[in-house]
Amino acid sequence: MNDITSMDLVALQELMSSYGESAFRAKQLFEWLHHKMIWDYNEMTNLSQAFREKIKRDFPIPQMKIVKKYTSKLDGTIKYLFELQDSHIIEGVLMRYKHGNSLCISSQVGCKMGCKFCASTIGGLIRNLSAGEMLGQVYKVQQDIGERISNIVMMGSGEPLERLDITMQFIHLINSKLGQNIGQRHITLSTCGIVPAIYKLADEMVQITLAVSLHAPSDERRKSIMPIAHKYSVTELLEACKYYTQKTNRRITFEYALIEGQNDTAEDARDVGKLLDGLLCHVNLIPVNQVEEREYKSSHTSSIEKFIKILNSYGIETTLRRKLGADIDAACGQLRNRYIKERGE
Ligand code: SAH
Repeated sequence: MNDITSMDLVALQELMSSYGESAFRAKQLFEWLHHKMIWDYNEMTNLSQAFREKIKRDFPIPQMKIVKKYTSKLDGTIKYLFELQDSHIIEGVLMRYKHGNSLCISSQVGCKMGCKFCASTIGGLIRNLSAGEMLGQVYKVQQDIGERISNIVMMGSGEPLERLDITMQFIHLINSKLGQNIGQRHITLSTCGIVPAIYKLADEMVQITLAVSLHAPSDERRKSIMPIAHKYSVTELLEACKYYTQKTNRRITFEYALIEGQNDTAEDARDVGKLLDGLLCHVNLIPVNQVEEREYKSSHTSSIEKFIKILNSYGIETTLRRKLGADIDAACGQLRNRYIKERGE
């Protein structure tokens, strides 16, 4: 690995010793990168000039920049487009709540999971992001707004459990006391349901919130909108979720995008109620965001209300995702698609 922004303190210490520098220098470098968020060796003035010249040559810091920003006049939500060192575009969303700033970040450029209603997957997977590129989104936005981000949601483009190793690197770095020190309980990871990785994540004994994209109660229905359902059954998925709650004692969030005529009937709601009965969880309903390239429509308000009532009757806490930034609306991955189209790709 030669991406210095993805290295933990131990890796930096090893690197420093290979240069004949002390472990203390590794701590200084780590603090520059992850506490002060300075990604320019020239500014790291407590490291010697000679050393900076060497490391600059051997480990250039991959740069990223904000190329577009859309601010909602309604609630201050900001959608960001970032350009990576290799000119790929990713997106993130800053949501401002009374309890603090929450940033939704991307974990991959594009996505290969193929969910039928999702815009991020239209061009397939281009590449994974490094842990440093996930951190970079957080640092850039903090610098842009001049405020701390207190919550991270890994719900932007990409499937964060496809490369659990990179995702864990990111979680440990953003959680580091020498860096931004964002508590694990303030991090949510959303997955379409990669079962073996859910077990592995549970075994890591992290305290993050796991959000699972359920979107339908039966294998047949799930398969019609989410290709991953061909690989893992709903039963297998729920067993893994149960294991996660037992290991971590953390409540799982099930995301459920309500799509007219696809998964929003009273019967669907009852099936979800039965399925999740007794599990430490809560359901977050999302009226599906309409994507130009897809024909799916959001459910009617009356179906949504009925759905909530039925889930509540099963004792399942249910929330409806508040629509933020309605005036700059763009579903997951849409802004990026539009931008790269305009750029002529
Ligand atoms: N790959 C992960 C995380 C990225 S998507 C996952 O599948 O969970 C984050 C959430 O947004 C998922 O629940 C996803 O199904 C949902 N989503 C994607 N496109 C959407 C759309 N057009 N409308 C509503 N929700 C959508």
